[in-house]
Amino acid sequence: MFLSGKRALITGSTSGIGLAMARALHGEGAEVILNGFGDEAEIAALRDELSATHFGADLTDADAIAEMMSEAGPVDILINNAGMQHVAPVEEFPPEKWDQVIALNLTAPFHTTRHAVPHMKKTGWGRLINTASAHSLTASPFKSAYNATKHGLVGFTKTVALELAQTGVTANCISPGYVWTTLIENQIPDTMKARGLTRDQVINDVLLAKQPTKRFVQPHEVAAFALFLCQEEAGNITGSNQSIDGGWTAE
Ligand code: NAD
Repeated sequence: MFLSGKRALITGSTSGIGLAMARALHGEGAEVILNGFGDEAEIAALRDELSATHFGADLTDADAIAEMMSEAGPVDILINNAGMQHVAPVEEFPPEKWDQVIALNLTAPFHTTRHAVPHMKKTGWGRLINTASAHSLTASPFKSAYNATKHGLVGFTKTVALELAQTGVTANCISPGYVWTTLIENQIPDTMKARGLTRDQVINDVLLAKQPTKRFVQPHEVAAFALFLCQEEAGNITGSNQSIDGGWTAE
């Protein structure tokens, strides 16, 4: 239980990758703070399972983030994981969707980080982990906002890592390829429309076509890497962007 006594806030942890991360950190003794939307009864069950607190803050709202960070109290581990996608050609991309994607995927990690860093610096230990994406290293069409945020998140993370390099606080990105979660399921209809394809064609010829392993990454595989970054042995890994993408970005 190497995380006993540590407090971890994981944004977007009511489903998918964030939930797997929350489970992994709880399994090693961390006190887990959940964030995200979802069914009330399901969230209550998660709170029980993980002995966790939960904040339903909408992270596109800077004031809601400030309130959550203040009520949650100091954290030793911050995982910026909440994210959203919107799929459309750039000339049809709704400006309000652009703003929403930027707010959640890029601006929210800035706000949570700036609130979390003072305590980490004071104690001389901290872990900042940002869920980026293979789309932080490469692009696919029709995802202009998402790709811009994930590339931007890597630049932000590198900067914070350099600022904190001598403080005992590390900052890294994890960049998964396609992971089967609601985020992927929800983009299939729009991708079918944007590319004029069937559902099976989107899964096999667009999504899995990118991954040489020909299988989706599993949420627990991403969570295992986040857990590793929390170990003492990972203290010299900072400013990095770790791919877990079935070989996608090796091509
Ligand atoms: P998901 O849809 O299962 O989970 C998203 C989480 O974010 C949920 O808990 C949701 O409630 C929360 N959320 C959404 N909007 C929010 C808001 N405005 N405020 C607060 N919380 C909000 O998706 P996922 O696939 O687990 O995605 C998690 C992260 O992983 C995202 O940053 C995503 O970009 C990244 N990612 C996913 C994949 C993939 O293939 N699924 C690949 C690479 C990167």
